[in-house]
Amino acid sequence: MVDVMGHEIPRSHPRYHSLLIRERLVEGFNKGLVVPQGLIAHGRGEAFDYILGEKTHEFALRAERAAVASIILASKPVISVNGNYAALAAEEIARLAEATGALVEVNLFYRSEERVRRIYEHLRDHGVPNLLPPDCEKTRVPGLESPRGIVCVDGIASADFILLAIEDGDRTEALVAWGKRVAAIDLNPFSRTAQKAHITIVDEAIRATRNMVEIASSMSPEEARRVLDDYSNSEVLREAFRAMLERLSYAASKGVL
Ligand code: ATP
Repeated sequence: MVDVMGHEIPRSHPRYHSLLIRERLVEGFNKGLVVPQGLIAHGRGEAFDYILGEKTHEFALRAERAAVASIILASKPVISVNGNYAALAAEEIARLAEATGALVEVNLFYRSEERVRRIYEHLRDHGVPNLLPPDCEKTRVPGLESPRGIVCVDGIASADFILLAIEDGDRTEALVAWGKRVAAIDLNPFSRTAQKAHITIVDEAIRATRNMVEIASSMSPEEARRVLDDYSNSEVLREAFRAMLERLSYAASKGVL
């Protein structure tokens, strides 16, 4: 039994995990990490996860392996963290940064220096290593006007590989156009982020990051090269659409999932 805002949720509740994750986001909202738009974005993600059966599919695991391989082989890999990702997966981000040595940068669409500081402190309190400080030297992503284009000179601006999660399509597109290799965790394979990234992880952010921690614990550079040689993102995207289609076709013929 877990207490959620005064309501007890039994472990046997069919939406137990989903309700707990929502609660984590609401907590993040109350602490000033998550913006209201982030709560809406989460709902969009949940809808796709529902269709996918709320589990990691084989195509997602393949993309997760490719993302870890890219981090291992990159000269400067950076994990870009926004409010939703921090509120949901701070512990997993800490373990991934620790296992791979990747830098971690707070990077926000709805940017305010106050929110950057709060997210930075939240990550630091969860033991995230290699964190770029809020007062890092700044520059802008070419083509991104307004504060949503601000990044650290020693972080994203000089990275050769960036892992994003729950990200807006414009920003993903601008990073790719800037010459960065990008992997994106995004449950919606239709989104511009999913379509523009070099590696698209169609999986829930917490599950995906946990899987990546496990993969990182045993992948050698030789295996990383093999994984990337064999990887096809268009195949992964096709399989993600096919998995949804199959679940929906079954439901459409039987009237149940
Ligand atoms: P785009 O701008 O890329 O076309 P969008 O308008 O949906 O997509 P946002 O609302 O900024 O962009 O992005 C949030 C994305 O993250 C959505 O595609 C949503 O499906 C996905 N998402 C939300 N929560 C999660 C989560 N917990 N794990 C993985 N993906 C998520």
